[in-house]
Parts: sequence; structure tokens; C-alpha cells
Amino acid sequence: MIQISDVSQQVIREKLLREQMIIAKERESEAKKASQAKTDFLASMSHEIRTPLNAILGMADTLNETELSEEQTEYLTVLRNSGRALYNIINDILDFSRIESGKLEMESVTFSIHDLMKETISLFLMKAKSKGIHISHSISKEISPMIKGDSTRIQQILINLIGNAMKFTEKGSIFIKLMLSEDKSHLVFEIEDTGIGIPNDKLQSIFESFTQVDSSTTRKYGGTGLGLSITKKLILLMNGTISVQSEIGKGSTFHIEIPYEGLLHRESNQNQHWLDLELPDPENFPPCKILLAEDSNENVFIIKTFLRKYPIQLEVAQNGKEAFDKFQSGNYDLVLMDMQMPEMDGMEATKQIRIHEQVKTKNKSGETPIIAISANVQKEEIKKSFLAGITSYLAKPVRKIEILKLIYFYIAH
Ligand code: ADP
Repeated sequence: MIQISDVSQQVIREKLLREQMIIAKERESEAKKASQAKTDFLASMSHEIRTPLNAILGMADTLNETELSEEQTEYLTVLRNSGRALYNIINDILDFSRIESGKLEMESVTFSIHDLMKETISLFLMKAKSKGIHISHSISKEISPMIKGDSTRIQQILINLIGNAMKFTEKGSIFIKLMLSEDKSHLVFEIEDTGIGIPNDKLQSIFESFTQVDSSTTRKYGGTGLGLSITKKLILLMNGTISVQSEIGKGSTFHIEIPYEGLLHRESNQNQHWLDLELPDPENFPPCKILLAEDSNENVFIIKTFLRKYPIQLEVAQNGKEAFDKFQSGNYDLVLMDMQMPEMDGMEATKQIRIHEQVKTKNKSGETPIIAISANVQKEEIKKSFLAGITSYLAKPVRKIEILKLIYFYIAH
């Protein structure tokens, strides 16, 4: 009897356990689905917001090039600064959702860390001057002229940390130090400020999403509490570490270590950091004929104003089909292809153009450069676009300097 009751109890227990496991699995999959839905929502919302914002920023930049009274310049500065701030927040949200869904991959390019540091710090010089803060940096001599890594993400990390140092420092200085770890295996960045400091009990939680030292921070300094959490996640993706030391009223020092891969020389045909920030000279720009495939009238207007001073004959197609039709009859030097268009999208139009070219010229060298313009900066999407036949990819919002440099590059070569 005792044995039978033991067996039946055992059976009941196992049954209960199985049921509990099924429930736990269902809950887990529901939670995963909900989290994925949240991530997808954040990603698509950020795309949707970026498109009109692109128009606002582009127009503000163009307006800035016209003759303005002092008062108008002041208003425009507020408009541009707020637009940029909004743009940064949206980028943060997009990055955050990409990291959360595991879609963010690190790149490895060869670049000059010296140039990158100088360029990044130069972004803060004006702000430092207006606040009366001294900003300086030092780079250890043992660091190679060229290193390998994800230059864009390293710059993003530096911008976040220097930006915070600037935001939370009212007087004194900011010092950025770059050196090698003792065993020379890691690059070490230290960003030191003489700002308000961080309480001891908050030193860990500031790296969590949407966390600020106290709620008055948002009111006083702005911010979403996302910057440090993204920074930490990016550093972890690089197999690095981040820590902070701080004293209230005295200042904070953020300490980062990321694996170091130094090279002695520039490697050719690698993406290099785009340092030359001068617009091409309209006088020396080669005359050319460009087809712009873009359905949004605002974006057409922006690109037209960007190119207006250059000897560029611009024709517009409102969708992919029209672009393909025009391409067959027109003699274009280059195509600017928006990727999201009604009727036929940029991907399909590009494929059709490439097939048409192959039939016509029977070789690959006769390809017309096609620059994709897209709000979608996910790696998969970019890969697909290159497979479809695009030559280069520009992320929205397109900056005047980027588009002109790229056009010049393809037309002049
Ligand atoms: P936020 O967008 O609010 O700046 P972050 O994630 O970048 O978000 O920072 C989180 C919080 O950490 C900030 O709101 C601030 O309270 C604190 N913090 C970050 N950097 C500093 C700094 N250099 N000095 C003082 N406090 C800082």
C-alpha cells in the first residue's frame, strides 16, 4: 500500500512539474514576443520620426546659408539645436532597440585614433568656450598611428561621455586621456571632469536604461537616461569594460578599456575616417546629370537646395518605376535612389537598372553609380541593397556635405 501511494504521489508531482514547465515556457515565449514587439515598435517609430526631422534639419541648414538678420539667426540657432537634440534622442532610441534585439553588429575598420580624438573634441570646443570650461586631451606615444576597430561606435561612446562631462560641469575642466593598459592589450580612455559628481549609491545604477541620479536631472539638464546604458552596451559588444569614480562636488572620471589592435601603416582600400569637412568647390565641380528617385516632395526640395549652387542638372522621378523608365531614356551620370518608395521601391528599381545595363553594355564596367538614400540603417538591409546593385549607401537624414562629397567622388573619378 505504502509503495502504491508513493508511486501515485510521484506521478502527481511529475505531472504538476510538467504543467508548471509548460506554463513557464508559454510565459517566456509571451515575454519574448512582447519584448520583440516593443523593440520593433521603437525601431519603426524612430524611422518614421527621422524622415520629417530630416526635412526640418535640412531646411534649417539651408536657411542658415541665406542672408539673415541677427534676430533671425538667433531663432534659427534655437531651431537647429533643438532639431539636433531631438535627432540624437531618436538615434539613441534606435540604437537601444537594435542592441536589445541583438541586431547591432560591430564593424572593424582601420582608422587614426589621433584624428578621431581631435575631431571629436573639436565638436565640443564652442560649447566649452561658452561655458568657460577648459577642455584638453593627451594621447600616449605608444599608441599606433592607425588602429583597428569600430570608429563610429568609439566616437559615439566618446561623444556620450564628453557630452555628459560637459553637461554636468559648470566650471573647471574636462580632460580626456588615451593610453594603453599595462600589458598593452587594451586601449584605455579616461574622461575626467570637475563637475557635480555622482553619489556613491548611484554609481552602478546610472548605467541602467532610463536611469538618472535623480528626477530633477531631466528638468535641469535634460536627457533621457539612455546615453550611459547604450555606451555600456556598446563597450560590452566590443569586449571592453567601463567603470566610474566620482566625488560629489569634485567631479567624475569614467574609465573605459577596449581591446587594442594597433597597426603601423594605413591599410589601403579600407574605410577611413571622413576628416576633410570642406564642401566641394562649386567652381571646380564637374558638370553632370543626375536622376533623383524620391517620392517625398520635401526631400526632393531639400536635395535640390543642397545641389543648387553646383553645375548639376537634376531630374526627379516620383517612384521606382518612373525612375527606371527615365533611366532607360536619359543619359545620367549618377542616380540618387530613395529606397522606400511606392509602386516600385528603390531595391527593385536598382535591380531593373542593373539588368538593363547588362543587356545594353554586356559588361559590368559600364555601371552608373547608384547612391541609395535610406532611413533604414540595419546591416541586413544595407547588405541586400548592395546585392541589388547599389554603389554606395547614405543614411537619412542626408547631410549636404555627405551627398556632395559622394557625388563629387563618383563624378570626378
Ligand atoms: P542622460 O541622458 O540623462 O545624461 P545618461 O545615461 O548619459 O543619461 O546618464 C545617466 C545619469 O548619470 C545622468 O542623468 C546623470 O545623473 C549621471 N551622470 C552621467 N555622467 C555624469 C557626469 N559626468 N557627472 C555627473 N553626473 C553624471
